[in-house]
Amino acid sequence: METLLLDAKKEGAVETAAEIIKKGGLVAIPTETVYGLAANAFDPVACANIFKAKGRPGDNPLIVHICSMDMISDVVEEVPEKAKILAEKFWPGPLTMIMKKSDKIPLVTSANLPTVAVRFPSHPVAQKIIEKSGLPLAAPSANLSGSPSPTTFEHCVHDLMGRVDAIIDGGPCSVGVESTIISFAEETPVLLRPGYVTLEQLMEAIGEVSLSKAVLEKLGAGEKVLSPGMKYKHYAPKAKVSLVKGSSAQYVKYVNEHANEHGIFALCFDEEAPMLKTNTVCYGSEYSDAQQAERLFDALRELDDLGALRVYAHSPKTTGIGMAVYNRLVRAAGFDIITLD
Ligand code: AMP
Ligand code: MG
Repeated sequence: METLLLDAKKEGAVETAAEIIKKGGLVAIPTETVYGLAANAFDPVACANIFKAKGRPGDNPLIVHICSMDMISDVVEEVPEKAKILAEKFWPGPLTMIMKKSDKIPLVTSANLPTVAVRFPSHPVAQKIIEKSGLPLAAPSANLSGSPSPTTFEHCVHDLMGRVDAIIDGGPCSVGVESTIISFAEETPVLLRPGYVTLEQLMEAIGEVSLSKAVLEKLGAGEKVLSPGMKYKHYAPKAKVSLVKGSSAQYVKYVNEHANEHGIFALCFDEEAPMLKTNTVCYGSEYSDAQQAERLFDALRELDDLGALRVYAHSPKTTGIGMAVYNRLVRAAGFDIITLD
């Protein structure tokens, strides 16, 4: 398949992207979180093609993107009161909410679930494409399934060239990790995936929110997965990655003691690089969880480009946006954790 490369800054590019989607095609589009692979959420054939293009397992549902509160009535059966509060506070923005789906959303989109994930993105290019197509857009991350999510146009080209109808360049993504996901399918709202909107912020807005066990821990065989995406291996570079927990001093000492291992790289904070005797890839300042989120996926891809074989990643903290960074990194490490004390 020929893939059309578009530049959102050029006249007519957004309209071209919307036209392709209206005809049932697939377009990778920028959002503030990561790039999404967008198709008409009402079209079962187009949505099935998203799964094919990404190599995504059929039981991992898609997030549906809207560009106004009016649009939501075609997507969900009803909006719970607490979801209305969160929409008021965090939309447009990096928050996805799970609610009972409407009959218009085909089962392929929701992966046979009675619920659907909905988000109203703040990125102006994403908003314009949804608006011009006049449709809610199903859009999972625009990467090949299993690889780190794409935060630049170049990442999308690397993964999806020849597999989708078009990719539109809207520059690098400012948030850098996928949206926070909260489910209203149960009595108490549940945080299924941490993101830029933090657990602390959600609780401040609506009170009790429970934390799905899969956010920070590996689920045992047979444990119920509330968010199907959480059970798959994710974000992994080709190297074997271990997540190292401990202070900066402990981390630097540990990595330097292993410096002669073949193909070793430290995935570290900016402040640590000068003290390390190995190759390093930095993923932001120790003191900025927002910067760590913005840089993480690019850093994971850079490790592949540099031929890393063995990676020791310094663990971020697990509060605030750090919870989102930790959630992605522990999966990139396949839950292999080294605790220093
Ligand atoms: P992605 O768009 O690639 O970030 O993946 C979407 C994420 O949303 C996956 O982890 C899905 O499991 C999750 N998700 C989407 N719809 C639902 C739903 N109806 N119930 C639970 N999780 C969902
Ligand atoms: Mg994804």
